[in-house]
Amino acid sequence: MAATPISTAYSSLMSAYEILNGLLKLEIGAEVRGRIVELQELIVSAQLDTLSAQAAQTELSEQMRALEEEMARAKAWEAEKQRYSLTQLPSNGFVYTLKSEERGAEPAHDICIHCYQQGRKEILRSRGTAYGIETLACPSCGAQTETGTYKTVAQEPLESFGSPDPRSG
Ligand SMILES: [Zn+2]
Repeated sequence: MAATPISTAYSSLMSAYEILNGLLKLEIGAEVRGRIVELQELIVSAQLDTLSAQAAQTELSEQMRALEEEMARAKAWEAEKQRYSLTQLPSNGFVYTLKSEERGAEPAHDICIHCYQQGRKEILRSRGTAYGIETLACPSCGAQTETGTYKTVAQEPLESFGSPDPRSG
């Protein structure tokens, strides 16, 4: 353990105790001997107090380190969440979508709104698509939402034939 003011105080008290032990070996009267023993009891009590103080200080240091980690995590999440925007799906459900300007090399994806509220990023996974409706599920909290628009099998060729491309306008 690194030397701290507390551990130094403990060592000094130990030295004082040893010095008094040396005095007890000398020819001294019973009254002085009695006072030396009293002094030694006080020193032992003070040493126990330094041990308590050391334990309290260790606990405080651990709490501070945990708080620092928590703060760093919160700061990182605060930056990460700015990369997503709330999107309403055709089903009226909501997801957070990675902003296109933030995409870079990442594939487009959505994250769970429930986990987002808890300060966690959980990428929604597709559970499959049926009749144009894709079911998205959160692997962490299990929340599900649907996206896409319902279409019957018969309508699919018509859509590719007739619908105007929304990106061209
Ligand atoms: Zn979730």
